Amino acid sequence: MNKRNHGNSVAVVTGGARGIGLGCAKALVTKGFDIVLVDVLDEELKRSTATLAAKGVHAESFMADVSLFERAQEVVDDILTRYESIDVLVNNAGTPMPKGLLDISEAEWDRTINVHLKGCFNWSRAVVPSMLRSGSGRIVNISSISAYSGGVTRAVSKFAYAAAKAGILGMTRSLAKELGPSITVNAVCPGAIKTELTGKMLDERSAEFTEGISLQRLGTPEDIGEVVAFLASVEPNFINGQAITVDGFQWIT
Ligand code: NAP
Repeated sequence: MNKRNHGNSVAVVTGGARGIGLGCAKALVTKGFDIVLVDVLDEELKRSTATLAAKGVHAESFMADVSLFERAQEVVDDILTRYESIDVLVNNAGTPMPKGLLDISEAEWDRTINVHLKGCFNWSRAVVPSMLRSGSGRIVNISSISAYSGGVTRAVSKFAYAAAKAGILGMTRSLAKELGPSITVNAVCPGAIKTELTGKMLDERSAEFTEGISLQRLGTPEDIGEVVAFLASVEPNFINGQAITVDGFQWIT
């Protein structure tokens, strides 16, 4: 079978079935990317893939848990049977862990690190060889302002999540050095973005949050998608190893 060669670049978005990942995929579609969504939610994946394909690009999806090293390689091998290369990787898949040091179990700590931090490693490790072969690539890692602030409130500790998100920033900077000049690696740190992950909490505390945000509103997946698509497609590019905060200037943390 001939590989696709119609000029579109290919972007893989983990956790792309909904929320910020889907916002990133939609923004990348407007830049002409073909899209591969990776997620654990079957129904949402099918629905979102159809929505993207209806915009005239090629879109496909894979069920995969990003914490599994071998599954990442398996999916990437499958993608590369149909495409010459993967041009963009958005490491976005994530899950909340609002537990303090004395409440969290070892398994919950491991899961948080494995999904957020090891997930970025697994997918970068799987995708980068094809980027190096093609001589270019863009990786955008989704961190969080929690990497800096440590979490939302004293009442709701997010120390494991914050540790994983801060780890992503270290990985971003180090890989940016290792993989340049052909591949850029940057991070985006969202503030309070209204998605399924944060919906209930933000609904309950909407006024409080909005009051503490200079732009006086919660963020949307589209706000993050625009920045990710910029980092993925800006030419010429001189941005590497950076963490861009997209939070409307939020000072309630
Ligand atoms: P979301 O609406 O829950 O979307 C995340 C998607 O990733 C879900 O479909 C989720 O499925 C999937 N996912 C979770 N674990 C996975 C795994 N191991 N393998 C593959 N897919 C997995 O969340 P979101 O708000 O869009 O968050 C996206 C990213 O932005 C996360 O990394 C999050 O930490 C980060 N972020 C979000 C905010 C915010 O305010 N929303 C702020 C800062 C950073 P399940 O629901 O089944 O787990």
